[in-house]
Amino acid sequence: MSYGETEAVRGIDLEVASGEIFAFLGPNGAGKTTTVEILEGYRRRTGGEVRVLGEDPEHAGRAWRDRIGIVLQSNSLDPYLTVRESLELYAGYFSHPRSVEETIALVGLEGKADSRARKLSGGQQRRLDVGMALVGDPELLFLDEPTTGFDPSARRQFWDVIESLRELGKTIFLTTHYMDEAQRLADRVTIIAAGRIVAAGTPEDLGEREKAAATIRYRDAAGEEVSIETLDPVRELNLLTSAALENGEELDGLEVTRPSLEDVYLDLTSTAAGE
Ligand code: ATP
Repeated sequence: MSYGETEAVRGIDLEVASGEIFAFLGPNGAGKTTTVEILEGYRRRTGGEVRVLGEDPEHAGRAWRDRIGIVLQSNSLDPYLTVRESLELYAGYFSHPRSVEETIALVGLEGKADSRARKLSGGQQRRLDVGMALVGDPELLFLDEPTTGFDPSARRQFWDVIESLRELGKTIFLTTHYMDEAQRLADRVTIIAAGRIVAAGTPEDLGEREKAAATIRYRDAAGEEVSIETLDPVRELNLLTSAALENGEELDGLEVTRPSLEDVYLDLTSTAAGE
């Protein structure tokens, strides 16, 4: 996809399986929105091949759109409609809508059904956004940075909503800036940087994290921080703790860590940006 001289995404290749939660990660300007808008049929690509639910989004019609739910970055709620009214209105656009009451329960807004959108908190408005995307009972849901601006507990509650969609067998294409969100929710993660895919895999084995060196840290008797990198942390710990027990030493602040998904992400995206 080019915007004039700017090639926003180039040669990206990805596949999302039915029923999967797929997380698409990347820094600002990486090409996420461009890609997602092409998949949603909102942006005309300048090259390449795309199939979503078996059709080219650029030429797909109403029946196709009926099978898709979209939650954009900014909400488009009518501030003066209540939760129930908003959902009833939206349900009317789809041929086989889910029941409005069921949708309200699914997004956890039971207590707010009669509140106007403008009286909802940011997190509750976001849930209503998701409800609007779900009321058409779509097979495939696009969620663009759904939890940006949420407090930690609102994010966790929202993750429960997503988990319940997984149980309903929905396919979810999620864009996010939060590594812990991808880690917690996604079956597979793809990282895009500067218009190219730089890594793809499960959250566990992305960037071969499982095989990466572990770091053991503790403070010695003099209070100095000690840090050991090792590919065999079990053996290393055994030696270390046996010696400490024998000598009656404490290993203050002992911890063993591997690179987090965030470390891998920062590493991969900074390399791509420096190209
Ligand atoms: P963010 O996380 O900030 O939302 P993104 O990964 O979604 O970023 P895109 O919005 O897809 O990034 O932008 C990718 C690149 O394409 C950027 O360099 C951006 O400046 C450029 N771009 C996006 N939309 C247009 C447009 N309509 N015209 C020209 N350039 C554009």
